[in-house]
Amino acid sequence: MGRTRILVWLAASGVRQGEIVVLHCFRDPHRGWVPSPAAPLVAAHASGRGREVRTGDLDMASEAQTGSATVCAASYIDPRTGLPAGVAIGARADDAGAMAIARDVTESWMAVMRSRRLLLCNGRCGSGCPRIDSSDVVFVVGDAPAEEACGSAVRPEHPRAAATHFVDERMAVAPEWLAGRRDVGAVLGENVRATLVRTLISALDGLGPVVVDPCVPRDGGVGIQEPSSVDAKGNPRHRVPVSGRQSAVARASSPRPTS
Ligand SMILES: [Zn+2]
Repeated sequence: MGRTRILVWLAASGVRQGEIVVLHCFRDPHRGWVPSPAAPLVAAHASGRGREVRTGDLDMASEAQTGSATVCAASYIDPRTGLPAGVAIGARADDAGAMAIARDVTESWMAVMRSRRLLLCNGRCGSGCPRIDSSDVVFVVGDAPAEEACGSAVRPEHPRAAATHFVDERMAVAPEWLAGRRDVGAVLGENVRATLVRTLISALDGLGPVVVDPCVPRDGGVGIQEPSSVDAKGNPRHRVPVSGRQSAVARASSPRPTS
């Protein structure tokens, strides 16, 4: 899928002074509507750089138009579905600093788009979980992971002890943590919320196809499931604005070229 990655600048409008907008979804002239399930990671990474960060949607200008805002967008084609996914940030066209942030953050996430395995462990398989030990990077997931739950990940003799990171509701994940890493271990804290786990799985799946490999039963209490067509809020992953949905349906169901 790496060869399908592209970075484009798109015209849009609706960005307010002093902010940047991390998009849930954007329209690429060649790929159509592109969902961005990784938006929570992108928004967290974009914060603290001198602009308010808003997550939402923008009016995307048609190709012939120019907008008051510009969107830096990176996308790839998911080989499982043939559908695009990506990340995108909008900035005012008259705010060079914001545009630089949009480009820097978008490129950072584009650089780590690849297929991955997500090795999920709830810590109940005992210390020295082989899945976690073989991971390239380990995320300890939850607000306050129980000692025993994260023990296997953070014990000093762990071969990846230097590559262990805590991830909570803020979704503060540095893209560098994922660079070149195929096998991502996730140790789930005792009281981790299912929505956090699902949001993280969905977000990682928005950076390239993720295969989830749990060492706990799928009914292990946190609602672990494969990345699905439904996001953490229960919305369809490939939700698109009405006009986009109509054209997508037209493309999918009709052999006629659409105007
Ligand atoms: Zn395990």
